[in-house]
Parts: sequence; structure tokens; C-alpha cells
Amino acid sequence: MEATPVDRSAPIRYWAVLGLSLLFNPSTPAMAFTPELHSAYALKAAQAFQRCPGVKLPVQLGEALAKGTDAEDSSPLTILQRATHWHFYNRNEKLEPFWFVERNLDAIFSKRIEKLNELLDKPDADPVEVYEQAGRVLHYIQDMSVPGHVVPAYHAKLPGNPADPFDEFESIEALPVFDLSDLQCQALRDEADKADANPRRFLDAAATATLQAIEQIDAAGKPVVDGAWKSYWVYPARDTDEARKGWGQYGTCEFAKGNVNAGCKREEELVALFEQQSRQAQRNSVLMLFYVQKKLAEAGQKNASAMADQ
Ligand SMILES: [Zn+2]
Repeated sequence: MEATPVDRSAPIRYWAVLGLSLLFNPSTPAMAFTPELHSAYALKAAQAFQRCPGVKLPVQLGEALAKGTDAEDSSPLTILQRATHWHFYNRNEKLEPFWFVERNLDAIFSKRIEKLNELLDKPDADPVEVYEQAGRVLHYIQDMSVPGHVVPAYHAKLPGNPADPFDEFESIEALPVFDLSDLQCQALRDEADKADANPRRFLDAAATATLQAIEQIDAAGKPVVDGAWKSYWVYPARDTDEARKGWGQYGTCEFAKGNVNAGCKREEELVALFEQQSRQAQRNSVLMLFYVQKKLAEAGQKNASAMADQ
């Protein structure tokens, strides 16, 4: 099934989408993984992190991280903020704000990082608050494993609007167990320990990896024409007006099970890509945990170390 292109030329369309989203749906017009997947990835990552050599993470801090990833999509306190700050990657810096809507994630992501940095700088910050805020930052990095958010292909979870099928492709129970070898733990620790490591870099790297996975860019970052997933995601959009605004679009195949249309992938191929992207989201969650732990250590965060020693 081809996702119906939405006519966004008329401002009224945005008002309608925003109004509907606020009235009927607690989710944002730009949710990626369902909120449950976000927090499940964070919890699974916290468990894998905890099994890495030399790591101690109290259970309640892993839970705080998960709560933060979930809150970014579902907290009623920030509903207006979500409606006006979409979670799309600002690919090639082309997805510009429209009226009062930030169509890309840059502004809100910076805001979340700023708050995290404030907390990390406070030696007496409440560790639960620190990890919850880290979860809010992590949410956007996890979103970058969803192709529709990176391409970016417009979608909204609203009546009459097609949602992103990738988002709901698989339940967390159906995913393979996430685990890391000691070597993989070390690689993530080394990455987090780099002097220039920061959440923005993690996000950009995740977006790049996703564009490579769907063959829209090559290993060197150069655009690929007619990559293997061109029937699923297209960039730039075929409509020149949409392309000019920075949008890509969905292709002629829907990323869903039981899709037997000619020219679409076999179900195993879809499962393989989904699992790869899920694993990427979980690996990035562990990377974030290593990063937070490093920052807390640098700041001499006594509370967090005290909790870890309990
Ligand atoms: Zn999101």
C-alpha cells in the first residue's frame, strides 16, 4: 500500500493535524517506535549494560532512564511541546520550521541536552533525575533507528493519517535477546570515553547508520540512487515542492508482514532490517549509559556513586 501523500501546502492542514492530535491522541505527530518499545529498549539496554565488566547500575536508575524515554512521547505535561516539536531528523539541514511548528528535532533535542548538562554539572543532583533526563535525550537517538524519521517521511498517528508501519512492525517479546560480549561492551565504553563524545554525535551517527542500512547513502556518506530499499523509502520526495521543504516519502511497498506485492521484499528481509535497527537502538542506549556514567564520574557525582555502591 502506498502511504497517501499529505497535502501540506495549506497551513490549514497543519492546524487541523495539530488540533486533532491534541484532542484525540496523546502521541505526537511524529512518534517513532511506540512508547513501549522506547522504554523496553532502555530497560533491556540497562540490563545488558549492567552485565558489562566493571559496571554497576542500580535497578532504579535503569528504570529512570526508561521512564525518560517514554515520557518524551507520552507525558501529558509536555503535550503541547510535542505537537509543536516533531521528532524528524533534519536531513541535510533542509527540514525547516513552519509557522510555530519545529518540523525537525534540533531545537527540542538541544533543549533536552542542555537540561541534562545542567544536572550533570550539579554535584548534588538527584541521580534519578539525571537518568530520567538522560532517557529524554536518548529518546531522540532511539528514534533515529526508525527509517521514516530519518528519511524523513511525514507520518502522524491520527485518524485518517497513515502511521509509520515500521513503528509497529514487531512487539518487544518477538525480538531476539539483546546481549553484548565483553568486547562489544568495551567498544561502546571506548566510544563514550572519546573527548568529543556527546549526544548530538550519537544521534547523527545513528541517523547515518540508518540511511546506510536502507541504502540511501553509501559508506562514505554519498547519496545512493536506487538503493535496495527504494520501494519503501524515497528521498527526496517525488513532489518537487515537498522535496524543496526537505521531505522524502514512503515508497510503493508498506513495511508490514503479509505484504506480497510484486517488487516488495520478503518477510524475512523485513524482519532482518527491523531486528538490526532494534539492536542499533539498544546499543545506542548502552552507549548513552556509558556516557552518563563517565560524565557523572567527571563531575564527581557523589550521589550516583553512593547509589551504585549500595
Ligand atoms: Zn519520538
